[in-house]
Amino acid sequence: MLHKDLENKYYLQWIQFLKKTEGWDRTEIETYQFNQLKRIINYSWDNTVGYRELWQKYSLTPQSFKSLDDINLFPCISKEDIRDRLEDFTVKLPEADYITTGGSTGIPFGFYRTKEAFGRELASKAWQYYRRGWKEEDRQIVFRGLPIVSDDKTEYFPEYNELRCSSYYMTNEWLKYFATKAMEYKPLWLRCYPSAGFLLAKFIKETKTIFPELKGILCASENLYGFQKEYMQDVFGCRVFSHYGHYELSALAGFCEFSDYYHVLPQYGFVQLLDDKNGQVTTPNQLGEIVATSFIMNATCFIRYRTRDFAKYAGNNCSQCGRPYQIWSQVEGRSQDFFITKSNRYISIAAINMHDDTFDDLKYFQYYQDSPGIVVLKYVPKNTFTPSTLIKIRAKLNSKFENDIDIFFAEVDESGLARTPRGKFLYLQQKLKVGING
Ligand SMILES: [Zn+2]
Repeated sequence: MLHKDLENKYYLQWIQFLKKTEGWDRTEIETYQFNQLKRIINYSWDNTVGYRELWQKYSLTPQSFKSLDDINLFPCISKEDIRDRLEDFTVKLPEADYITTGGSTGIPFGFYRTKEAFGRELASKAWQYYRRGWKEEDRQIVFRGLPIVSDDKTEYFPEYNELRCSSYYMTNEWLKYFATKAMEYKPLWLRCYPSAGFLLAKFIKETKTIFPELKGILCASENLYGFQKEYMQDVFGCRVFSHYGHYELSALAGFCEFSDYYHVLPQYGFVQLLDDKNGQVTTPNQLGEIVATSFIMNATCFIRYRTRDFAKYAGNNCSQCGRPYQIWSQVEGRSQDFFITKSNRYISIAAINMHDDTFDDLKYFQYYQDSPGIVVLKYVPKNTFTPSTLIKIRAKLNSKFENDIDIFFAEVDESGLARTPRGKFLYLQQKLKVGING
């Protein structure tokens, strides 16, 4: 059976375009981006009340955009701005669908997306997977937040060559069953949330279960932490690919053939990292908010859109593959991913990862914070758990937090752990308003 995306004309056209433009140098990329920004600014001015009014307030017109740098004259727009006046920021197109985000940033909202935009999105992601040798016809086993209603918690989709397993049932009994199904199906790829892939890897290693040999692991939707990547690579004996993307289709950035840095795809959108004074981040290792303009969203338009996601700038060129693309060493700081200390410091969850056995006696754990300087660690114990487990964890966390956060523990069962509406596992359930930009 032909992969369903290969019957999608928008997908095929965009793959052709990406292929044709793959070798662009920096000048060709900048020319394209300038023309696309000009197009979307003109289009939004002519067709939306929202952008026209917003820019008029700043005495701007489409003629104000004369060079790539002029994009900095245009104001940023927030999720709340678009949510509260959705129709005003949307061009009415008959073929557009209304879709909603998972609300993993705490601000759930919906908007309009055309079938063409979605086809281009699928093609852009596939294009990045090609770098690691993925092909549409390859078989894959999938552990994502998709609800699966069948009794055996798996579902086969021949049109995508996908065996989907429920990531809500990552218990030893079910994982054993999923591994058996995998041995029958012989997938070449594992596609997963990092948290689900990590649990599967742990199960395989700890129970010495056999699993098919994989070409690679494709992660998405959650931050991929270094310890997860290393563990999965070790257990499955293949590389882990990750990308950053979002439902607003304004920025897409994935690993390349050689490097595990995120490469911002220049044909997809215009992407900047902004610091807390709205200045563009140009210093390596500096964190900035991802602010993006979509080249593919023509129903609801996203122009200088604040994503509330953060990335660490690494440069404007990948020395390993040679692509003159903006690259990031890390994507982090979705709002759930920071702790606030007593002295109001932000500590990224990535910074407190333990590369040792600290959490080995816990089956699951999740941080919860609803007041500054206080964090509750909810946990599901393993049968190896003893009272000294918590003493050890507290000592480790205190040293990471430098005693600027008080830690409390709460034993829960699995149902006591929060997930997003799309089933994403949260490492930190953050109830405080957190953001570098306030
Ligand atoms: Zn590269």
